[in-house]
Amino acid sequence: MNEIRKRLTFQKNFYRKQLVEFSTEPVTVKVFGDYADFSAYELNCCGMENITTAFFNGSKNEVVVFKNEEFIRSLSHEMSHALLSGLPMEEHLWLSEGLADLLASYKPSDEGSFKAERMYFAQDLKLNEKSTKRLTRFLRIEEEDWNALSTYDAYGVAWALVNYLYREEPMLLRKVIQTLNLGKDIEPLFQKRYKKGLKDFFQLVRSYSEK
Ligand SMILES: [Zn+2]
Repeated sequence: MNEIRKRLTFQKNFYRKQLVEFSTEPVTVKVFGDYADFSAYELNCCGMENITTAFFNGSKNEVVVFKNEEFIRSLSHEMSHALLSGLPMEEHLWLSEGLADLLASYKPSDEGSFKAERMYFAQDLKLNEKSTKRLTRFLRIEEEDWNALSTYDAYGVAWALVNYLYREEPMLLRKVIQTLNLGKDIEPLFQKRYKKGLKDFFQLVRSYSEK
């Protein structure tokens, strides 16, 4: 329980730093120890297409998790969705899923600091095989196309983009978050920051992920 509270504070602090007004609605958390019960509940409430072991149901403000070994990380991921619930940036899947995975990867240590656990390996993400055109399209991806991708091609790539911004370009990340929250286009931000705009950005993410 203590770890869950620490993780929530970590996320709230992050979103506060982005000057984002996150949701303060009370959230119900439902934890299932039996996968059959979990999936029956999911089918009944939501009938989602791609369902793994946790989800956030925005209409009821409810986080539902199956209690496996990664349960705290899954819960953290869904906590991020709960905080962003109702914000325009939520619709941008690469950002909302990337942030959820990124923030969930930070685990509190005994000394009180947060350390990132490795989420995806470069060889699985295959960023070198993904063209600038394809990655640019990924920034506008809609749910149907997202669901058709593998975990690595969807969540993994989203994490890699957001992780790079978080670690190397926090000011740009903040601007991206704020701009998408205003419903505006983010391409001009990248054009201003890099000579060749998104092309340079993707190249930096590719090299960073190989490290
Ligand atoms: Zn998610």
